[in-house]
Amino acid sequence: MRIFLSVGHSILRGGGCTSASGYVNEYKYNKELAPYVKRALESLGHTCDVVVCPEGKFTNWKQERGYKLPIANSGRYDIVGELHLNASNGVGHGMECLYYPGDQRGLAIANRACKAFQDLGFKNRGAKARGDLYIISATKPTAVLFESFFCDNKHDTDLAKKLGFDKIAGAICYGLVGQYPNLNKGSETKVNKPVCVMYFRDGNKTTAEFIAQQLNCKCYKDNGKDLPNNEHSKYDIKYIGDLGKTRQDTAKEACKRFLGWNI
Ligand SMILES: [Zn+2]
Repeated sequence: MRIFLSVGHSILRGGGCTSASGYVNEYKYNKELAPYVKRALESLGHTCDVVVCPEGKFTNWKQERGYKLPIANSGRYDIVGELHLNASNGVGHGMECLYYPGDQRGLAIANRACKAFQDLGFKNRGAKARGDLYIISATKPTAVLFESFFCDNKHDTDLAKKLGFDKIAGAICYGLVGQYPNLNKGSETKVNKPVCVMYFRDGNKTTAEFIAQQLNCKCYKDNGKDLPNNEHSKYDIKYIGDLGKTRQDTAKEACKRFLGWNI
C-alpha cells in the first residue's frame, strides 16, 4: 500500500495554530506521532509519505487544503489518512475515526482503528461517516481521519503519554493496513535522526572533531553556512558549546556527555 499521511492543521504566519489544545497540543502531538506511523507502516513493506503544511506561511486553514489536496490526489497513493485529536472542554473522551459515507473500505479501516484504540484502553466512539471534511470528501483515494483521543481530557492524554508514540502509531497502522508493525519488541524506540557534532568557538574545534570521529559522524562549525540553520532540525546535534570553564573542561564534559566516558 502507498499511504499519504498528513498531520492535521498548521502554524499560521502570525504564529497562531489552527488546531485544538489541552493537555497536549493537537498539531504538535500529531507532528511528533507521524514519523512513528510511517516507520510502523514501512516495517510491513508499505510506503508512507508524511505531509505537513509549511509553518508560518499560511494565513488561514483553507490554504492547508490547497496545499494537501494536489499531493493526495496526485495518483501516487492508495489510502489517505490524516491525524487529528479531538477536544470538547475536557468532557469527551475516546477515539473515533471518520470515513466517507458509503466507502466500505474506509469503514473497514475506521472500525479496525477504533478497535485497536479500544484494546489500548481508550473508549471506542466508533466509525463515523462524514461527507463535509475536505480531506475525506475531496480526496480520490479512500480517506480516513483519525481523532485518536481527546487532547483536553486528562484520562486520555495521561493514557496516551503512558503508552508512548509507538503504541499509538501501531494502532493507527493496524487500522490502515490490518496488521501491527513488525518492530523489535521492548521499550519504545526513538525515531533516529542522523547525528552530527557542532561547535561555535574555534577553541573547541579539536574537541568537536574528536567527538565526531568517535561517533563516526560529521562535524560542523555553527556559522550558519556549514550546516544551514534550516537543516538543523534534520539532525540530532551534539552541540559543543562552552561546557566548562576552560577548553579542557569542555573537552572532558563533552566526552562524558556524548561518549559516555566515566572520567
Ligand atoms: Zn483537528
